[in-house]
Amino acid sequence: MRTGWMTKGRYGHLLWAAVLFVFVSYLGCSRFETRLSSVRPFIHYRVSVSDLDLEVLRVEGDVQGVVRKETIFRPASNDEGGTIDPIGFKAEDLDGRALEVERSDEALKIKNDGKDFSFSYTVPVVVENRYSPDVRTMLTMIDTEHCRLVARDLFLLCDTDLADGIIIDLDIPDDWVLASSAISIRKRTVVEETGDFPLTTIVCGRMQSFDSSVDAVEVSMASIGKWRFEAERLFELVRRIASYEIDMFGGSPRAKFLVIVEPNPVKGGAGFDYYGIHLGGTMFLFLDPHMDGHMLFDAPMSVVAHELFHNWNGEALSPASNSFLWFTEGATVYYSYRVLEGTGIITPEQYKARRNVIYNRFVDNRYHGKVPIREAQNNDLGDKEMVNFFYDGGYLTCERLDAMIRSESKGRIKLIDVLRYLYNNRKPGQRVDEGLLVDAIKKLSGLDVSLALQKMLDDPSAEFFSKAPSSLD
Ligand SMILES: [Zn+2]
Repeated sequence: MRTGWMTKGRYGHLLWAAVLFVFVSYLGCSRFETRLSSVRPFIHYRVSVSDLDLEVLRVEGDVQGVVRKETIFRPASNDEGGTIDPIGFKAEDLDGRALEVERSDEALKIKNDGKDFSFSYTVPVVVENRYSPDVRTMLTMIDTEHCRLVARDLFLLCDTDLADGIIIDLDIPDDWVLASSAISIRKRTVVEETGDFPLTTIVCGRMQSFDSSVDAVEVSMASIGKWRFEAERLFELVRRIASYEIDMFGGSPRAKFLVIVEPNPVKGGAGFDYYGIHLGGTMFLFLDPHMDGHMLFDAPMSVVAHELFHNWNGEALSPASNSFLWFTEGATVYYSYRVLEGTGIITPEQYKARRNVIYNRFVDNRYHGKVPIREAQNNDLGDKEMVNFFYDGGYLTCERLDAMIRSESKGRIKLIDVLRYLYNNRKPGQRVDEGLLVDAIKKLSGLDVSLALQKMLDDPSAEFFSKAPSSLD
């Protein structure tokens, strides 16, 4: 269980390493000695990854320009509600005097008396099997060739309004390259919007990195490891997919996308050959290391289209509850293949073949006829068959919805028009649910899908889906 603050015992054996690392890295510590009067509050974080064997990361930081008597730090929570445990947290004023730190279950209160201060702590980053379903709880990792850092796994959130943002400097070997989902210049990352901070990703190492602008959106890709295809080729396809999706919605909710491509360490069996994880502006793409060039024009590319699509459907249009995940995932799977077909990355024949795989896999699934599609995501998602049932069922429901809307509006309105309408009319903080979706479909096409939807999602015995795919246009 990794909920709440991590238990001390689990990482107790790392403490010695942490203490040693504190001592070693302190020798190289630099600090701002002067304070500019015009400075607005900001945090300057420094992370050293110079010793990659220690399985802990040492984090140091300065808080500048604060005026409050107390500053509160708290760890960000991850998708599972877990948080990091900053070991050995210490705060000092600029003369090196220790500041009082009050530690409660959820926060650290630093009595800085309205003055600038510095702080330090360590975080263990090695979790045994990072590629199990646990992967979502901590994506930060280090090895001798590269490291990737997700801010929420490592940094504390500050309650002060950081008007001048957050600067992160990484101490990395000179031959390493760095890429980030935020602005980055050499070894420095600048997070201007502190709301984005927890999901900010930095990846660095001996890797290939690509940068390009697509319809005024910055698209970067970091490729780690050796591939049987040219990484540049993959980047070309990423750009094509990004451009197509930005066009589908008429704009992007983000100014930058970062794609991190790594070999998938899970081999066969219960795992997936390739999979993606979408986290803020970052897309993690874990591909089969044996994948060759022609697979770039096949199903694995749907992971790119899928995770990118989540920037709109999933993040900008965030689901109100689990019972709407069939749409968040279903529409995303559905469009991931349509985007590949639309961009010419796969042919219409490949599209149909892929759709038939989904249909047959759904019909043959052992949960078919027993579990309602809406309920699937509440079951064991460590079970590969349940995962397939959930995604395939969501796909087929969305395909059917699309066909119904097209037929009612005589081809004038498609499901993507409904998504674009929801995206363009979203209100700050608003989440999407079935009511909003049904209303949008009714407004655009005149069709009331509420009963049909209920039947498809809640009645496992309903045979709603047609064997043949709906036509492409
Ligand atoms: Zn997804």
